[in-house]
Amino acid sequence: MENRERYALEVQGIVQGVGFRPYVYTLAIAHHLTGWVLNSGTGVSIEIEGTASECSAFLADLRNKVPELARIDNIDIQKIAITNEDSFVILPSRDGKRTTLIPPDMSICEACLAEIRDKNNRRYRYPFTNCTNCGPRFTIIKDLPYDRHNTSMAEFVLCDACQKEFFDPLDRRFHDQPNCCSECGPKLSYYDRDGNPISGDPLQNAKADINRGKVIAVKGIGGYHLVCDALNSDAVELLRQRKLRQNKPFAVMFADLDTLKRYCDCTPKEQELLTSQRRPIVLLAKKDGGLQVAEAVAPANKHLGTMLPYTPIHYLLMEGFEVLVMTSANYSDEPIIYNGENADKLAALVDARLEHNREILHRCDDSVISCTEDGQSIFIRRSRGFVPEAISINGCRHSILAVGAEQKNTFCLTKDNKAFISQHIGDLDNHLAYSGYQKEIAFFGKLFDSQPDYIAHDMHPQYLSTQYAHDAYPQLPKIPVQHHHAHLASVLAEHCCAEKAIGLIYDGTGYGTDGKLWGGEVLVGDSYSFQRAAHLLYAPLPGGEKAIKEPWRTALGYLSMIYDTDTIEKIAPKGLLINNWQILLQATSSGFNAPFTSGMGRLFDAVAALAGIGRIVDYDGQAAIALEQLLDRTEKGSYDISITAEDDSYLLDWREMLTQILTDINNKTDVGVISARFHRAICNISLDICIRLRDETGINIVALSGGCWQNLFLINNVKKQLAENGFKVLINSSIPINDGGISYGQAAVAAAQIEKGDW
Ligand code: ZN
Ligand code: ZN
Ligand code: FE
Repeated sequence: MENRERYALEVQGIVQGVGFRPYVYTLAIAHHLTGWVLNSGTGVSIEIEGTASECSAFLADLRNKVPELARIDNIDIQKIAITNEDSFVILPSRDGKRTTLIPPDMSICEACLAEIRDKNNRRYRYPFTNCTNCGPRFTIIKDLPYDRHNTSMAEFVLCDACQKEFFDPLDRRFHDQPNCCSECGPKLSYYDRDGNPISGDPLQNAKADINRGKVIAVKGIGGYHLVCDALNSDAVELLRQRKLRQNKPFAVMFADLDTLKRYCDCTPKEQELLTSQRRPIVLLAKKDGGLQVAEAVAPANKHLGTMLPYTPIHYLLMEGFEVLVMTSANYSDEPIIYNGENADKLAALVDARLEHNREILHRCDDSVISCTEDGQSIFIRRSRGFVPEAISINGCRHSILAVGAEQKNTFCLTKDNKAFISQHIGDLDNHLAYSGYQKEIAFFGKLFDSQPDYIAHDMHPQYLSTQYAHDAYPQLPKIPVQHHHAHLASVLAEHCCAEKAIGLIYDGTGYGTDGKLWGGEVLVGDSYSFQRAAHLLYAPLPGGEKAIKEPWRTALGYLSMIYDTDTIEKIAPKGLLINNWQILLQATSSGFNAPFTSGMGRLFDAVAALAGIGRIVDYDGQAAIALEQLLDRTEKGSYDISITAEDDSYLLDWREMLTQILTDINNKTDVGVISARFHRAICNISLDICIRLRDETGINIVALSGGCWQNLFLINNVKKQLAENGFKVLINSSIPINDGGISYGQAAVAAAQIEKGDW
């Protein structure tokens, strides 16, 4: 008989709240092993005993397949003395130092979905069905360890049947902390706009109202959605009026993948994202000649933000509908409404509310992703389904809190080479977003048992995040990070690239080391440091901030870099110049409230405004998006942007291009053609400057980051052109490419500088 052996295993990763112990138990029994398994502060501890071949077979299985939501980062194995016990058991949890990872909120799994569709199952049509493989996690957690009493399920007492499942190691719901059923769990209810309960089946009431063209609120995982029939133009228009939002596209939810494919094109990669348990919103191209949602859902837009149902409530609600508008419940620039305290705010937005009594503890928007032609994902928003999953950050031994940027804020907390990036917080100048920001920073500290040793922040002295860094952590070393350096470092850190790279960092604006607003930047550097190798020619923004929502001002500022006032009056396209533009220009030339910018996003705004689209907009980026939407792909021409050498960098001078654009506008050239020529000019100059810098430095890696890269024509073509010329191209793929990725980049820069002993 073979000798018996015993091993002690420490498993780290996402191993709690995901059915890991029952899995280990079943595996151990299958391999005839004795021993035990338990949840510890650092993960899962296991001891196994059996013959050498049985033990190694168990280990091979453990490494190769894990429960759906689990992820093993590391297994520590030690051979120890045998104890000759006669069974394998699951032991009670042991507390300790906390390094356990909490999984994100995941969509309902196939097994649970089958149950709610099975008339004979006790969970038939129960809207809160979940198991260890699915359901809410991050948004219901108050504290660690992840036990029911530390979640918003604490107030629901398990019924006998649920309790039996909960304590049965072989049940799919063994230690499923949010386990519940219609007997013991949360319930749906339906209210009118004033909060009066409406009798009857809440789901049927909701459906009837949607069918009548009403707008309702639906409480979900990380907040409320505003919901209406996406095929009913009047209903969608009503929603636009109430939300005070004219143009920004609404996301939709399709009943299933087959229905979705009748409206949209969908590549295998996009399909994989849509159907994954993370269930993000994926931006898809509307299908040529396919079925169409109401035009007002995504006005003048060839793309549609789409998702599939991810909670039992969604599945039940979607019965009888092909596609519903499912947009975050908020007013223009405010964060998503997520708790009852704000229910009165919903009153002005909706006709009725589909509610439930499971509290949402953390505001968490839907994540938004689009895909490049070659199948790389681009995060526009990384939230539900991804947060609080760790992203590795090499060489980061300290705990750094990176407080992020101002717009599309996220923050990032590091610990042991891992970065925990927060959910989308929003624009910090909104007080609700700002208070949520402070609350979530405190929660992340608790969740990951990590108090920062260093604070990284943007160089912008007026960002609220910068002020927060100083106010909240007066004692700690604070590391200022230039905005576009953070963008560059975010790409390099994400790809574990320690080499120097050329960074094409294109965004709206960020504070530069010269105090001007940068944003069309070509940097050369690594996570530690950078040089500004080239940038767009500066232009003034007449009226400062105001120019962001009034791109006609930006166009005026850009024209003023070429022409005097009289000439501008003569050559400006019809309708561009409004009311007191001369006075505005005068103020601008005397330097009053006209900061200089090299922002790529602002150049897009200026061109769009000249071309007659988006002279006044609802939201930042709208003019650029409109320009991209109109682009005529058959047009292969381009405008000229020149590269001129300055002292120690290159200037990308767009003045010639603007005169060419004005000529085209005068000649009544189609806007789509102008857009194509402009886009191609940016692509060409991007390639040219990279080639020039490679010749000088030998650097062959190009990193793309910044909000402008959400423009798919731009990113697809620049990637292609660079690759054709032998460059290795890196982009942000698992963190947001816009300012949502700044916090992670700040952490990467800070880590590199701490490592070199700068701080
Ligand atoms: Zn499930
Ligand atoms: Zn129950
Ligand atoms: Fe930025």
